[in-house]
Amino acid sequence: MTILSGKRGLIVGVANERSAAWGIAKKASDLGAELAFTYQIPAFEKRIAPLAESVKSEIMIPCDLSEEASAKKAMEQLSTHWSEVDFVVHAVGFSDKQELSGAYFNTSRQNFRQTMLISAFSFTELAQASAPMMPNGSSLLTLSYLGSVRTTPNYNVMGVAKAALEASVRYLAVDLGGRNIRVNGLSAGPMKTLAGAAISGSRSIFRHSEKNAPLGRNPDIFEVGGAGCYLISDLASGVTGEIHYVDGGFNNVGVPPSDV
Ligand code: NAD
Repeated sequence: MTILSGKRGLIVGVANERSAAWGIAKKASDLGAELAFTYQIPAFEKRIAPLAESVKSEIMIPCDLSEEASAKKAMEQLSTHWSEVDFVVHAVGFSDKQELSGAYFNTSRQNFRQTMLISAFSFTELAQASAPMMPNGSSLLTLSYLGSVRTTPNYNVMGVAKAALEASVRYLAVDLGGRNIRVNGLSAGPMKTLAGAAISGSRSIFRHSEKNAPLGRNPDIFEVGGAGCYLISDLASGVTGEIHYVDGGFNNVGVPPSDV
């Protein structure tokens, strides 16, 4: 028996083998979970299929969260395979790349709306769609970043969306706690992924965090996965509404020793 034996989970947000969602999926599979995956667009399906196969998953469902009711449709499709789902992982973010550069002050109305819907509200939509399939003791997990609570260069509207996402974690934890469905978030340090690369200056941010984190490095996707597996497992049965940092301790540093 391992900590996720007998649990079934839906992973939303794998784009390729560098995705944080893949780090969580691989670890969850290693720890005994049975998995289903969504893919945003058909082009991603081909890339994700071998990854899904490698963890013996046969369920791949289309889900473009920019479309209304897509979360509901995805869960309806999942229900044709499974009657219950023990965990749902949401590792999704999107904003216009042009606005992940320069000043937040210049954010457009259209991109504010789009970023909020896809990067923040989609987690609530997934919770709404999946809760009816969730048994007692199940959980929801999302991914955030330090830019939600502190300013980081060029993160801009994504930071505002992550702040909303983290607030959603707390509100959903209250709303679903009575059904014993737990809701948590991981705040990960910089990782070299497609979404990470969209942020202007991401290499400098990566190097700064690496240099100044107490562990002297950024997390890899499997370390993020390990922490995620704890949160979705029964080991964390008393934990909900939390944002758990997996960033080598970077968020705790005020003035880095290297600056003095
Ligand atoms: P990634 O590019 O591998 O994953 C982002 C995922 O979001 C992709 O799978 C993409 O398909 C999905 N997505 C975007 N728009 C979508 C839509 N309309 N419908 C459905 N899916 C959509 O990058 P990642 O870094 O693994 O990102 C996963 C999560 O981790 C994001 O929430 C991101 O903000 C967060 N995060 C990333 C970092 C980092 O440094 N890379 C750090 C902290 C948090």
